[in-house]
Amino acid sequence: MAADLIDGKAFAEGLRGRVAEAAQRFHKESGRAPGLAVVLVGEDPASSVYVRSKGKACREAGMESIEHRLPETTTQAELIALVESLNADDMVDGILVQLPLPSQIDDKAVIGAIDPAKDVDGFHVVNAGRLAVGEDALVPCTPLGCLMLLKDRLGDLSGKDAVVIGRSNIVGKPMAQLLLGESCTVTIAHSRTKDLPDVVRRADIVVAAVGRAEMVKGDWIKPGAIVIDVGINRVDAGEGKTKLVGDVAFDEAAAVSAAITPVPGGVGPMTIAVLLRNTVVAARARLGLPKEASL
Ligand code: NDP
Repeated sequence: MAADLIDGKAFAEGLRGRVAEAAQRFHKESGRAPGLAVVLVGEDPASSVYVRSKGKACREAGMESIEHRLPETTTQAELIALVESLNADDMVDGILVQLPLPSQIDDKAVIGAIDPAKDVDGFHVVNAGRLAVGEDALVPCTPLGCLMLLKDRLGDLSGKDAVVIGRSNIVGKPMAQLLLGESCTVTIAHSRTKDLPDVVRRADIVVAAVGRAEMVKGDWIKPGAIVIDVGINRVDAGEGKTKLVGDVAFDEAAAVSAAITPVPGGVGPMTIAVLLRNTVVAARARLGLPKEASL
């Protein structure tokens, strides 16, 4: 393997440490800990695990974790009423509604009901719009985590050719906006892109956020490129076992790239760390406190 491994786990641990210190400073300044409310509707096992780990990470960082678990049969009106009560609660700085929601509930209506100042997932159209026009915004956690890893590795990203594969509102589009904000020349590829391998071959920075196991091959990668693999795909590992792989064929890509994130242990651990970071950022902004340089 020629490439350096980008250790998202270690970076995320460092970020969580800085968040914990920032949470303590916030406590001293405001008399309370930053508070994150996480709302889970239904019993989806994966979502339940995510919510539990978000709560644990929150408490470990010295922050207040408020969990609301609602039954699968919850109506949209009931969920929006809860979101509105959290909007009005001064102890709550961040609100996260765990997706996906049951089919009777429209995600967009619920996200639209969250106060943009508490939208720590950065999914509200007000935050998406602010990001697009280059104003201060709460930015979706996964792409912001990817950007932090890239800047840690490369410093200045200005003038780099970046290809983002995937155009979802939670990863691909905000990732592209962030890279544009860093003065990269950005291409967004998706399922209708013609000759994807050729598009990817131009990139100094490749961010793969597709959801297709090992789709990006080694011979698509320009030698010396940096590869950020957002994908999390569970595949058969034989003998009745499964394993997690990314959207990039890791061994092939690692042979030609300069640096690459592994799956697991790359982008994955960044998401919760950035969620905690966004909660402290939101808490300070709501109280009119100056920004934390360390975050
Ligand atoms: P979505 O399914 O919402 O989006 C996938 C994107 O990939 C779409 O824009 C789609 O294009 C594009 N796509 C699909 N097939 C192809 C193809 N053959 N060639 C090129 N583009 C293609 O997924 P998400 O953005 O939510 O997530 C992407 C991956 O990242 C998933 O594996 C997910 O599990 C993972 N993820 C990881 C997180 C983490 O914490 N590490 C957090 C969030 C997601 P089109 O728009 O044309 O359909």
